[in-house]
Amino acid sequence: HIAGEHSTGVIKITTRQTVQLHGIIKSHIKPTIKAFNEAHLNSIATCGDINRNVLCTSNPTQSPLYDQVFEIANQICDLLLPKTHAYHEIWLDGEKITDKDEEKDPLYQDRYLPRKFKIGVVIPPNNDIDVLANDLALIAIIENDELKGFNLAIGGGLSTTHGNPDTYARLATVIGFTDTSKTLKAVYEIVTIQRDYGNRSDRKLARLKYTVDKYGMDWYRMELEHRTGFAIEPARTYEFNDRSDYYGWTQSHEGNWHYTLFIENGRVHDEPELPLKTALLEVAKSGRATFRFTPNQNLILSDVAPSDKSLIDDILDRYGIIKQTAGTSLVRKNSMSCVALPTCPLALAEAQRYFPSLISKIEPLLFKNGLDRENIIIRMTGCPNGCARSYNAEIGFVGTAPGRYNLHIGGDFEGTRLNKIYRESLDETGILNTLDELFTDFKRSGKSGERFGDFSFRKMNEVSA
Ligand code: SF4
Repeated sequence: HIAGEHSTGVIKITTRQTVQLHGIIKSHIKPTIKAFNEAHLNSIATCGDINRNVLCTSNPTQSPLYDQVFEIANQICDLLLPKTHAYHEIWLDGEKITDKDEEKDPLYQDRYLPRKFKIGVVIPPNNDIDVLANDLALIAIIENDELKGFNLAIGGGLSTTHGNPDTYARLATVIGFTDTSKTLKAVYEIVTIQRDYGNRSDRKLARLKYTVDKYGMDWYRMELEHRTGFAIEPARTYEFNDRSDYYGWTQSHEGNWHYTLFIENGRVHDEPELPLKTALLEVAKSGRATFRFTPNQNLILSDVAPSDKSLIDDILDRYGIIKQTAGTSLVRKNSMSCVALPTCPLALAEAQRYFPSLISKIEPLLFKNGLDRENIIIRMTGCPNGCARSYNAEIGFVGTAPGRYNLHIGGDFEGTRLNKIYRESLDETGILNTLDELFTDFKRSGKSGERFGDFSFRKMNEVSA
């Protein structure tokens, strides 16, 4: 209702488990935020030099300890929220605070951070949240069915600037392990170090990744131990083997059901052949499911009691959702793109308005080469800022100009390796011809069990050797 009344009506699920509404005219901003507040939603800390929303593994079937990990993600979020009441004063007509001591903020003080800060919490082995793309990544360590603590990794961030060689994408590096009781303190002090040592003279070089590379991991660990007063332990063993969403029904340990449905590029709206928004409204009105957004821009209808499963299933079936999710190609299910044009002022090229049609032209190439059952992670952004995480896709497109994209290949399936530029500023014909060559080569000379990302990484290394 909020989207329909105040914006274009489309609800965009973002790559950071939030929603965006677009096309809100100025006089509707305040009513929108008020309506959000009434629905127990908010947009605090969605921009600015501050910690953003904390990502967490999206699917509760990932572990019986899911709720415990999710709660820690919530605690981190609360811990790093700014103390200012400005949001409530400005948007919700909250009481004006005159005693400035009430707003004293020991974390952000009078300066905030040098740049935005992103945190993710993941439960291996599914790396659905691309945890290493965050400034700070927490990797849950579960041993003997007990949450022992987290490996902490620092310095992830994908944003770059075309033509500025000082900028680069980087995946977070594991700095060590803390047990659960010490995790919040370690997180807090990682942020204070960035507050005090991050680059405040050049915003392009102000993210934590540049601080980490300037001072080094050993220095960062020493400073962290000094500030926390405890030792950071050696990292524990973990493994990622996936980062896809589990489409369809899955069941968690306590017996509840969770239905993950595919939403192309996260756009929730009604089409004549797929009235998705209407269907989801009916699910919401039933009160029999909670809604969880995945960082792959999809939706999990979650926590459905066994006795309610058929009711939700009937709604999804009646609106064609089950058929659509089951009938969508693997490459499309593994695709995502950012908003780009016409909404994002930083966009250099199309992304979500164009990507579906490009996927429709890539599907026959895969089919022709007998690769349509391959899981290949493919992503597009309209500029090099990396919002849809093209830099760690197996195939990534990064907009350079209208209709032109750099083609990146060689990222891995698990999200632990960045890709590299393979061809620059291709138009659509160039993209399709290049992919056709790559797919043909993969079919011919890929090793048994080798994934496309690993194959293209190997090939690029053989060429450069
Ligand atoms: Fe982000 Fe760039 Fe896409 Fe805009 S165009 S949403 S800044 S990646």
